[in-house]
Amino acid sequence: MYSLNICVLYPDLLNYNGDRGNIIALSKRALWRNISVNIINVTLDEPFVPEKYDIVVLGSGQEYEQQIIRKDFIDIKGNEIRSAIENNKVFLCIGGGYQMLGMYLRTLEGKEIEFLGALDLWTIEGRERLTGDIVFECDFLKSDTFDGKIVGFENHSGYTYLGEGVEPLGRVVKGFGNNGQDGFEGARYRNVFCSYAHGSLLPKNHELADHLLTLALKEKYPDFSSLSPLDDSLEKATRMTLIERIIR
Ligand code: GLN
Repeated sequence: MYSLNICVLYPDLLNYNGDRGNIIALSKRALWRNISVNIINVTLDEPFVPEKYDIVVLGSGQEYEQQIIRKDFIDIKGNEIRSAIENNKVFLCIGGGYQMLGMYLRTLEGKEIEFLGALDLWTIEGRERLTGDIVFECDFLKSDTFDGKIVGFENHSGYTYLGEGVEPLGRVVKGFGNNGQDGFEGARYRNVFCSYAHGSLLPKNHELADHLLTLALKEKYPDFSSLSPLDDSLEKATRMTLIERIIR
């Protein structure tokens, strides 16, 4: 029987706008296929041991939580996180957690707050908060049966920009995305998936949840080929209704 260990980083501090929904979606969709799931919460002053995890989830938070976490994230866990990323560990990072994988956050006052720098991206605080429903399109998810459109809810004042070697997670169809200017949403690097769409991201978009599960299972079990299908008729209908309502 297959099993997955999901590490939730700082669940007590980074859990903004329902980010726990992503962990529930990953767990449920694995359990429905008889894949056992072990959730490992790791917070401040606790060791991050990448060999023990198959998926790492980093939720979102405001500057306040980012300040609390920053030292632990960079100085204590930073090297392990960086090498886990380079070794193709599957990561899902949302909002404030997404920003913290990048190089820095520049505040409205012009102060630069250094972040981990595991991904070549940076964030500049803007005056206007980018909030609302978002639809974006992910080429890597497109198939004969799926148009690659992802629906979510964003709420951020950080405007994020991607550097060399980091791809966007998708292209904005409706909403703001990373910065409201370049049409990109989120970031993708190796098996790291970052987004400004919150914790209803995976519950609303089971194709993305299954993509992460598949990657993690393939990394762990070389003989693993694909997930067994589920009856997703309700999920598909919900997603279509939401997208039509938002795009219209
Ligand atoms: N504090 C950050 C911002 O507003 C992150 C918010 C979030 O996680 N959505 O940009």
